[in-house]
Amino acid sequence: MLDTSKHKGLRKRLVDQLISKGISSKPVINAILHIPRHLFIEKDFESYAYLDKAFPIDSNQTISQPYTVAFQTSILEIENNDKVLEVGTGSGYQTAVLVKLKAEVYTIERQHVLYRKSMKRLNELGYNPKSIKYGDGYLGMPEQAPFDKILVTAGASEVPKKLLLQLKVGGKIVIPIGNIDQEMTLIVRKSKTKFEKIKLGKFNFVPMLKNTN
Ligand code: SAH
Repeated sequence: MLDTSKHKGLRKRLVDQLISKGISSKPVINAILHIPRHLFIEKDFESYAYLDKAFPIDSNQTISQPYTVAFQTSILEIENNDKVLEVGTGSGYQTAVLVKLKAEVYTIERQHVLYRKSMKRLNELGYNPKSIKYGDGYLGMPEQAPFDKILVTAGASEVPKKLLLQLKVGGKIVIPIGNIDQEMTLIVRKSKTKFEKIKLGKFNFVPMLKNTN
């Protein structure tokens, strides 16, 4: 579990790339600068960890591209103690970014292998979310709702209604919508019944699947 000066140098280069691609949130840049992404992928591939690319992890899933993590996190404008639900724990890297931003993080993963591994990894690295759940993110986490922010890291064909209803009034969800490629979509809950939708461009995600295996 080594984090060397070489890794730190590679992270600096990565955040410079993210800044040049338009990421401007200082707290998000700072989180990416400090979190050892190479410890979130298999050891043999550690040299890929600081490329701005998605990378395969267990169960045919991917660790999201750093730009995508930075983009989704920036859009949510995370504040200290925000109660945040993440759907799709995956490697746990995005979870660590949210924890580093001092959010109170609840995360759900439907692949048991990833759930188990990420729980262990986050614990060992000291990025502790409030809760990691093995389950179906379409259902959200009703026992913990409402949330200030919801971040979905898998592509859904439409916005899951249950997630929208687990947002506080004034809360925001960022979710990639679409089957083949996805439109990043921000939805703000304006009132109990009114939601405002903003489209933010095309991205590529693994699909959000129903139920657990
Ligand atoms: N944030 C993760 C992204 C992983 S990819 C990271 O950067 O590592 C998306 C993740 O969503 C996968 O791990 C996939 O298993 C998970 N997923 C897909 N459908 C889901 C669902 N219905 N509920 C919870 N997780 C889901």
